[in-house]
Amino acid sequence: MKIQENVPLSGLTTFRTGGPARFLVLIESKDEVPEAARFAEEKGLPLIPIGGGSNLLPPDAGLEAVVVRYLPSEIREEPEGARTRVIADAGCEWDALVAYAVGRGLWGIENLSSIPGTAGAAAVQNIGAYGAALSDTLESVEAYDMLEKRFVTLSKEECGLGYRMSIFKKETDRYLITSVSLLLSKTGEANTTYRDLTVYFEKRPVTKTLGNMRKAVEEIRAGKFPPLAEYGTAGSFFLNPIFTPESVLRISGQYPQMPTYKLPEGGVKIPLAWIFDQVMRAKGRSEGGAFIWDKQPLVIASEEGASTNDVIRLAQSIVKDFFSHTGIKISPEVRLFGEDKKKFE
Ligand code: FAD
Ligand code: NAP
Repeated sequence: MKIQENVPLSGLTTFRTGGPARFLVLIESKDEVPEAARFAEEKGLPLIPIGGGSNLLPPDAGLEAVVVRYLPSEIREEPEGARTRVIADAGCEWDALVAYAVGRGLWGIENLSSIPGTAGAAAVQNIGAYGAALSDTLESVEAYDMLEKRFVTLSKEECGLGYRMSIFKKETDRYLITSVSLLLSKTGEANTTYRDLTVYFEKRPVTKTLGNMRKAVEEIRAGKFPPLAEYGTAGSFFLNPIFTPESVLRISGQYPQMPTYKLPEGGVKIPLAWIFDQVMRAKGRSEGGAFIWDKQPLVIASEEGASTNDVIRLAQSIVKDFFSHTGIKISPEVRLFGEDKKKFE
């Protein structure tokens, strides 16, 4: 285990903003996890796990915390009937896991190609894109439980996965995830129900092989989201709100042209991006070095030299404007801390 002090979080997050972490602990093997938990307890500081920092916005003042990065990143597999169990250490890059699965001819996560971050945090967010979600294939998660001070295995049901949601978001920082276990299929069918994918294959004379599905998602995403090498961002800044079939009628009645989407787990999702774009004309808005991404207004991006405070001020103005149009309070998907977080409660 390596301990560093006062490490700038701007270097550990994709927004590239934020002050220092009081301590950064790098965990190199699973047996160091209890030691890291004890270290945080001794210091009387909260332990905050971090992966690729692609869904976090740390405060400009930094975090008075022990920020912990779990580094092991091995992938292993074992047969499980007609399927294959793939177990990835939490520190494995998510997209490396997708590349591994596609390379091994295993179906189930190809639509989740090119999502930044680690395999461990994928379970926190129940990552989703292009008509797929981690919950389609997740079997279980292994984690260290900070409350009970022991390793636990949580089944998919115990992870409480929902739309961009899990028990790990509800019980913040109780668990340090050490590995995720997925069940993938040796035979599969391409899921091209998502409009962008349907259109992609309609326009090209290519077969919907596993490799071509990954390539399609990579290409679509590359044209739509900010390149991380050039801009700071954490992807979609806000969560699409979920309504009951009855309560969605008010907002869909207000905007009859707006599409709505039924979620498999129940509830109806409305696309914020549609209202940001069509009603609020949010594209082009900025605060300091933070601005709304032109190709997807749900995404906030930042220029070199931007601060967390710039992003927060822009996000606050969007929340306020959205409320004045719809009477609905929207919430950030990106994790915020302390005073920044309180501004959206
Ligand atoms: P971090 O940002 O480091 O952490 C996120 C949360 O997980 C924090 O609460 C953190 O404390 C916790 N955490 C991290 N590691 C652990 C661990 N080992 N144990 C317990 N808790 C942990 N998300 C989608 O769902 N779909 C997308 O299509 C998508 N596209 C994106 C595109 C871009 C350009 C960007 C920048 C982001 C996108 N995201 C998307 C958001 C983000 O990539 C995901 O949420 C990703 O899973 C975050 O992984 P991370 O390792 O960077 O997590
Ligand atoms: P999009 O296709 O322009 O769609 C806009 C919104 O409508 C999205 O929020 C999407 O919801 C919803 N939507 C569109 N078609 C849908 C369908 N067939 N079924 C259900 N919902 C539908 O979105 P985009 O910006 O290009 O993103 C493409 C995919 O990548 C989306 O799945 C998006 O979630 C994901 N993504 C997520 C992040 C993040 O940080 N969370 C960042 C980049 C991309 P969903 O968001 O639920 O799909």
